Amino acid sequence: MTTTSPSLAERLEFVRTGIADAARRADRDPGAITTVVVTKFHPASLVRDLADLGVRDIGENRHQEAQSKAAELADLDLTWHFVGQVQGKKARAVRGYANVIHSVDRESLVSALGSEQSVIDCFVQVNLTDDPERGGVRPDLLEPLVESVLATAGLRLLGLMAVAPLGEEPRAAFARVRGLSDGIRRLSPSSTALSMGMSQDYPAAVLEGATHLRIGTAITGNRPVRS
Ligand SMILES: *Cc1c(COP(=O)(O)O)cnc(C)c1O
Repeated sequence: MTTTSPSLAERLEFVRTGIADAARRADRDPGAITTVVVTKFHPASLVRDLADLGVRDIGENRHQEAQSKAAELADLDLTWHFVGQVQGKKARAVRGYANVIHSVDRESLVSALGSEQSVIDCFVQVNLTDDPERGGVRPDLLEPLVESVLATAGLRLLGLMAVAPLGEEPRAAFARVRGLSDGIRRLSPSSTALSMGMSQDYPAAVLEGATHLRIGTAITGNRPVRS
């Protein structure tokens, strides 16, 4: 007997069903949830296959890789989400091809991303761990950072982004983000989006109100190994 691994279309369908199930449990409209398929380390051809299956939102976390894929696939008119840490000196370049930046996490990056010419959508990333090496602003520094995003031309704040920490029940972590989001609504009533939920924990994120899921391996399969 042979077993074949599921195809890209089957994995995508499986995840779409999982999102719809979680949305139903939460009494939410699955159509109000954007699934960003994170394609880091995979070739541009996989992004093209995803586009053929109806995927419009693509996530990347490494600047050079993202820049070259976006250039190669410019004909597809996809929405590119940058979900990785942004180096200050690369900020202008990331703005050049990304439509949404999920990882605004410090004042210096806010200044580097500002523009008088055009507006880009962004999320402020919150660090839910005690490890400063992880991306994201400490929750106690969130409000001043949000205020500076709001005061900077060229940035439209959609809401908050976070990664559930290892060792914490994901739903509890996402509930914390939801609480922080309620707090910043006072500063920016329209910044209600929540970018949270990955391959292992997206149902919990949907239950806690995620509007943008960032899903990689559950859809793409394992990432190719790079040396
Ligand atoms: C890689 C990545 C994801 C997707 O992770 P999976 O576990 O493969 O779903 C989501 N968010 C960020 C910030 C990532 O770097």
